[in-house]
Amino acid sequence: MPLLLFTCPSTGGSFASGIHTDARSLACVAQLPVRLQCPHCGKMHQVTAKSGYFPEAGSDPAAGSSQVDHARDRSPAPERPTRLAG
Ligand SMILES: [Zn+2]
Repeated sequence: MPLLLFTCPSTGGSFASGIHTDARSLACVAQLPVRLQCPHCGKMHQVTAKSGYFPEAGSDPAAGSSQVDHARDRSPAPERPTRLAG
């Protein structure tokens, strides 16, 4: 299971919560209050489980979605399906 990450509201830094869960389990405990010792500011943060995110998700709900679109400069190959009669 992936490690759930949280974002420090004071510094904006991400840190691991020590909670291993997956998306399905996270949805079940979305409203679960979690108290975390923040390594960035040293304070305890009272958050809900849904505010956590996965490092592999690539999308940070706090910072908004930032997708990088790579412009593809590839022309489609003029390839036609060949039919063999016979
Ligand atoms: Zn903090």
